Amino acid sequence: MSSLPTTEDLNPFHITSTQFDRAVAYMPQLKRGLIDYFKRPNRTVIVEFPIVMEDGSVRTFTGYRVLHNMVRGPGKGGIRYHPDVTLDEVRALSAWMTWKCAVIDVPFGGAKGGVAFNPKDHSEADVRKITRRYISELGDLIGPYTDIPAPDVYTDARTMAWIYDTYSMMHPGRNNLGVVTGKPLDVGGSHGRDEATARGCLFCAERALVRGVVSGRDGVDGARIAIQGFGNAGAHAAHLFQEAGAHVIAVSDSTGGVFSEHGLDLTSLRAHKAKTGTVVGAANVRDITNAELLALECDILIPAAMENQIRGDNAHAVRAKLICEAANGPTTPAGDRIMQDKGIPVLPDILANSGGVCVSYFEWVQNNENEQWDLEEVNHKLRIKMERATDAVIEKHTKINRSGHESGPIDLRTAALIVAIDRVAEVALKRGIWP
Ligand code: NAD
Repeated sequence: MSSLPTTEDLNPFHITSTQFDRAVAYMPQLKRGLIDYFKRPNRTVIVEFPIVMEDGSVRTFTGYRVLHNMVRGPGKGGIRYHPDVTLDEVRALSAWMTWKCAVIDVPFGGAKGGVAFNPKDHSEADVRKITRRYISELGDLIGPYTDIPAPDVYTDARTMAWIYDTYSMMHPGRNNLGVVTGKPLDVGGSHGRDEATARGCLFCAERALVRGVVSGRDGVDGARIAIQGFGNAGAHAAHLFQEAGAHVIAVSDSTGGVFSEHGLDLTSLRAHKAKTGTVVGAANVRDITNAELLALECDILIPAAMENQIRGDNAHAVRAKLICEAANGPTTPAGDRIMQDKGIPVLPDILANSGGVCVSYFEWVQNNENEQWDLEEVNHKLRIKMERATDAVIEKHTKINRSGHESGPIDLRTAALIVAIDRVAEVALKRGIWP
C-alpha cells in the first residue's frame, strides 16, 4: 500500500459538503434555498474550561457541541474524546447525524460533540471531572427534548452515566434519563445498545447481500471479514459476524493489527487486549499494519475506527468485495470514486452504522415511558428498521442508475444521502420555515 502523502482535502467538513453537492445534483426538485440551509450547522458552541488535574496542575480544555439540524426532532449525536478532535470534525459528524437519523427514520435531528484530549493519558477521576465540567458548560444547550448526546470514540456507558448524573444534578426533581443514551443498563440504558452499531452493520450487510449487491455472495455465512478498529463498533462487529458464520481474519486498533488466514480466536484476542491494551502481539497470529489490513483480500472490509482511512492514495489497494462502514467518514470522496471504478460497493456510514442511533432512539423512548424492553424486542425492532433503510437506499440507487441520469451513475452513499435529504426537506416544507 502506498505511503505517499495525500494531496486530497481531508477536512471532514469539506468532505460532507462534497458529498452533499454530489447528492443534490440528482435532486432538481429540491428547493434551492434549502441547500444552503442544510449545508451549515444550525448552532456551534465552543467551550474552554479549566480542570484541576490529579497532580494539582490546572489545565484548560476545549470542548465543542454542534447542532446541525432539528427539523425532524431534537439533535442527536455522540460525544468524542480524542486528541485530534477539531471543530470541523464535529461539524462534519453532526451533519452526518442529521442524514443518518433520516435514513434510519428516527425522529431526531443531527448533533455531535467532542473534547480535544486523550482519555487514555488521564486517570478515571480526571476524565470524570472533564466530563462533568464540559456538560455543565453546555448547560441547557443539551436536554431530553433539545439535544441528546451518546457514546462515540473513547467515550462509553460509564461516561454517559456521568453525563446523566451531571445534568440531573442541574435539573433535580424530574425524569432526566432521556438527556443521554448509551447509559449503563441499570442507569436507564437499553438492552442491546452496547452492540447496536455492530448489530446494525450485520443486519445491513445481510440485507444488502440478499438483495444482490455482491454477485455470487448472498449472505455472511463463510465470508472472510477484516475489521479496522477493535473498540465498541469493531469488537462487537467481530463477535456478531463470527456468530453469523463469518471468519474474522484480521482486526486492528490504533497500535496495529493481527491476521490469521483461518480466522482469529476472538476470545483469546479480547483477553490479550484487556491485558496489554492492544491486539498486537497476540499468540498464534501474524502482526500486520493498519495499511496491510485495508489491503487484505477478503469478502467484507469493515472500517470501524476513524475518518479518512480509504483515500485517493490507498484505495487502489483495497481487495474486499464489499465495504461496510461501521465508522463515520472512513472513505473520502476520492476513495469513493476509486471504489466505484473498481466495482466495490460501499454500504455508507449513514446507513451501515445507523443501528447505534436507532437503539439510542429506542432507549430514549423507554426512558420517556419508564420502561425496559427485552433484548429480543430491541433486536427485532432494530432488524426491521435496518432492513427498511437498506431497502430504501438500494431502491433509490437502482432507480437513479436505471434512469441513465445525465450526471452519471451514483454510488450507495449518494443514494442514501438523496433518501435522507428528501426526507428532511419534506418535513421542513410541511412544517414551514419559521416564522
Ligand atoms: P471506540 O473508542 O470504542 O473504539 C475505537 C477503536 O478504533 C479503538 O479500538 C482504537 O484503538 C481504534 N483506533 C483509533 N485510531 C485508530 C487508527 N488510526 N487506526 C486503527 N484503529 C484505530 O469507538 P467506537 O465507538 O467503536 O467508534 C468507532 C467508529 O464508529 C467511529 O467512527 C464512530 O464515530 C463510529 N460509530 C460509533 C457508534 C457507537 O455507538 N459507538 C455509532 C455509530 C458510529
